Amino acid sequence: MTDNIKQLREDEDRYQLHTYAKFPFFIDRGKGCCVYDEGGNEYLDLYGAHAVASTGHCHPAVVKAIREQAGRLIFYSNVAYCSVRARAVKKLLLMAGEPYHQAFFVNSGSEANENAIKLARSLTGRREVISVSGSFHGRAYGSLSATGIPKYHDYLNTPVPNHRILPAEEVARAVSDATAAVLIEPIQSMGGMREVTLKDLKEIQKACQKEGALLIFDEVQTGIGRTGTFLYSGRGGVHPEMVTLAKGIASGFPAGALLVTREVASSVKSGDLGTTFGGGPLASAAIEATLETIEREKLVENAARTGTYLREALSKLKAVDEVLGRGLLIGIKFKPPLSAKAVQQGLLKERILAGSSIDPQVLRLMPPLILGEKEADRLVKALKSL
Ligand code: PMP
Repeated sequence: MTDNIKQLREDEDRYQLHTYAKFPFFIDRGKGCCVYDEGGNEYLDLYGAHAVASTGHCHPAVVKAIREQAGRLIFYSNVAYCSVRARAVKKLLLMAGEPYHQAFFVNSGSEANENAIKLARSLTGRREVISVSGSFHGRAYGSLSATGIPKYHDYLNTPVPNHRILPAEEVARAVSDATAAVLIEPIQSMGGMREVTLKDLKEIQKACQKEGALLIFDEVQTGIGRTGTFLYSGRGGVHPEMVTLAKGIASGFPAGALLVTREVASSVKSGDLGTTFGGGPLASAAIEATLETIEREKLVENAARTGTYLREALSKLKAVDEVLGRGLLIGIKFKPPLSAKAVQQGLLKERILAGSSIDPQVLRLMPPLILGEKEADRLVKALKSL
């Protein structure tokens, strides 16, 4: 480590609040599935910059779109029509498909969920929000109150009233005429890559329809192709009324979106929702370029194909108990005494980045959707040598 880097590291520790356990290196640049530290060392990024680098790091088409837009107009809010926003929102709706009719652009996953909850409460005139144990929905007050991982509630003092968190199999029975919304993360990534069963999802949808509650899927991680379909929503005929997106939607430019059905859209009036930065020209340029790249390079199909390839290889490893998740949203459950943390540290020595979860046995992979068999083989080889 040079003296300059040492100083910068001290500065970051000195001046930035200590809210994250950090990788032990300085990140400098990224390309494709890899990132590089200040010393030029290459790391295979299976953490995907926090499930964000959907098209890979610095995809040339995304870089070009951001550069060009920055020179044309960095920002104007939604009070002005803007061609790049029009193209981005149309592309998003075309790729999402029926029954999604309109979108509201925001800046993050938490904000998308906050707006979905707010809309559900105002449209139904009800207050209760039910979510599922093990889910993660964000760090703002409402989305954190809906988060079903107890340790995050320690930071809340008192959650928003009328939020109930239940095991998935108890949700359908709990839905009543007091319920505004059921909020579900279909594959609970931070929760240890646990998937809510299709049977539970169908029953929850039926209960919501019967009681007039709105179903919301938090697709901040599962959306934008990661699980091998553009959205998770639609599997088994379960179409929530609202879908929240963020992370991979703009390849790393901060952005999110709330998708709604025609019926929900028809109840939204001018002034109901708002944001200064959501859907700004730079974000829209990054969204448009990301979506076009995903379509042109068939990255949804690649997520399914490479996901299956990697899953098969991982499930043959002696140390692996179970491979969880779908597509390129992968949880590797290791047999004790091997812990996910120990494997994460071991992989770091091999210059491979992966994530942990609340399950000490489950290591998480959320790599770029461009991941190929060569990179998948590198991981499998490294795991064999641990
Ligand atoms: N929902 C899910 C499923 C997430 O994984 C996250 C972020 N980890 C969020 C919501 C919150 O997104 P953000 O950090 O962009 O607010």
